[in-house]
Formats: sequence, C-alpha cells, structure tokens
Amino acid sequence: MASLQKPDWVWYDGGIRPWEDATFHVSSEALVRGLNVFEGLKGYWQPDGRFGIVAVPRHHARLVRSARLLHIPFEETLEEFAAAHHELLARIVVPDRQAWVRATLYVEEGHWGRDTKSSLVLTAFTQPMGPPEATTVGVSAWRRSADSAMPYRVKTSSNYQVARLARIEGRPAGHGEMILLNAAGRVAEATGACVMAVRDGVIICPPASEGSLESITVDILITLAQDMGVEVQRRPLDHSELKIADEVGLCGTLAELTRVTAIDAYDIAEWSVLQRLQDRYLDAVTGQDPHPAADMHLAGG
Ligand code: PMP
Repeated sequence: MASLQKPDWVWYDGGIRPWEDATFHVSSEALVRGLNVFEGLKGYWQPDGRFGIVAVPRHHARLVRSARLLHIPFEETLEEFAAAHHELLARIVVPDRQAWVRATLYVEEGHWGRDTKSSLVLTAFTQPMGPPEATTVGVSAWRRSADSAMPYRVKTSSNYQVARLARIEGRPAGHGEMILLNAAGRVAEATGACVMAVRDGVIICPPASEGSLESITVDILITLAQDMGVEVQRRPLDHSELKIADEVGLCGTLAELTRVTAIDAYDIAEWSVLQRLQDRYLDAVTGQDPHPAADMHLAGG
C-alpha cells in the first residue's frame, strides 16, 4: 500500500534530503495543533517517455488558497513548486508504475497565528498502473462539518479526522471508502474523493458548497463529459437519490474515477456512462488521447 512505502528521498527545507532527515520538533505547531495544509498530486508516464503531473497550477493555486484561509505563509512560486515536484519524482519514479506526491505545508513555528513560519515538504510514492479497483461504500453516521465549523474547501489535516472515523466505521463491512453526508443529510463527499451519480444518463455532482473540497478532478471530468456530449448537473444530491442512482463513482486525484458497486445494502449494477468517462480521463492523463483539461506538466517542460 502506498501509505506504507518508505522512499529514500523527500523534498524538505528547500531541496532533496534523505527520508530520515525530514523531521519536526514535537513542540512545532504542526504537531501540537495538527496545523498544515496539503495537496495530493498524481503523475503518469507519457507516450514520449516523459513523466507528466496533472494540473500543477491548479494544485498550487488551491494550496495558496488553503494557506491563505488559515493564515499560513506560503512562499514557493508555481515555477518553484513544479520544479521541486519533478526533482523529487526523478528520484522516485520507476518504470511500469505511476506516482503521486503529497505536498504539505507544515506550520513549524508560531503561536495562535502570531509569527507563523511554515515549511513545504514533498513526499512521493509509486502506484500500480491501470484503472482503479471498484469498491463498495457505506454512508457514514459521521457528518461533514459545516463551513462555519471547519471549512471543508481547504485541504488541511484536521478535516480528515472525521474521514478517519468514517473509514474505521466502514472497515468491518469491507468498504473501501465511505460517503459523508452534510448537516442537511445530503451527499457531501467521500472521505478522500468527491461523488458523482448518474440518473437517466445525466451525471449529477454536488457543488462544493454541499460540503466538499473544491475538487480539481471533478472539474476535469466535467469538461471531458461535456466534450463527450453527456449532460452534467452540478446540484445537491439527496441521500435517497444516491441509493437509487444507476451509476455511482468516486472522483479525485488518486481515486481518478472509481466505480462504486454497492452502497450499504443497495447494489449499483451499472457502469456505462462513467466507464466511458473513466476511459477518457485515463487516456487524457496518460497522454494516449491528450486533452487540455488535464493540463499535464511534463518533466523538463
Ligand atoms: N474530497 C476529499 C476529502 C479529498 O481528500 C479529495 C482528494 N484530494 C477530493 C475530494 C478530490 O479532490 P481532487 O480532485 O482535487 O483530488
């Protein structure tokens, strides 16, 4: 499993360092208050033999927004951010495997928002090639926080406490992911991905204001779907609609577009509109059939 990999190198303190050297003191804000913002980026081998990363400018921009909301300074420009990714990936990637990077801005120093100092760390891990494995999901008893309690738009570790609880809740039933509802009982997102449903040939995806991260993958998938002539509705999705949907998928940088085969006791038998969209997405990010929406950032490019 990717989370258990221990690669030799990380990007830390402005350059490539041995994995063991990337440490913070126990009294750092990052550890005491769990204070950080982060991104997960994914890269794919391209037909010309170069390694390409999906939508780097959009990930950089979201990290800037997350940092801004939480008053965390973030100095790296887009060019520096992209160069750091390729520098690290050059050490990590191996033939026949894709890779992903976790870019984390840790708060090293500061007290209640005063004199805040942050440090960007990149860790990269390899992943098998090929489409993501289908999964069953459950609907969690835990809820996505309201914007006023813990802003879900920002990617910060605190937002994943409830995600962890939901994953633990779903494990005895064998679920690979769990759906979080919002306070109104409508679909917010999954613990590490957004949710798409298909009803009568139309793709429905709840907007971020229903309680999800502002997903970069959702935006790419919507552009691809519309290019394929599929209608997409960005609107609230009731819990009951999810359970009677024809097709359900999970979308995210790492989830790509993952098929959901059952939600609790409800089988979701179909996978046709989203199968075509999954194929189109994977063709775009692997350069088999490039599309500007994937905005691939190539090594040396
Ligand atoms: N929601 C959550 C909670 C996530 O962790 C992710 C993965 N980053 C997503 C949605 C999907 O976002 P993106 O498409 O930008 O990866």
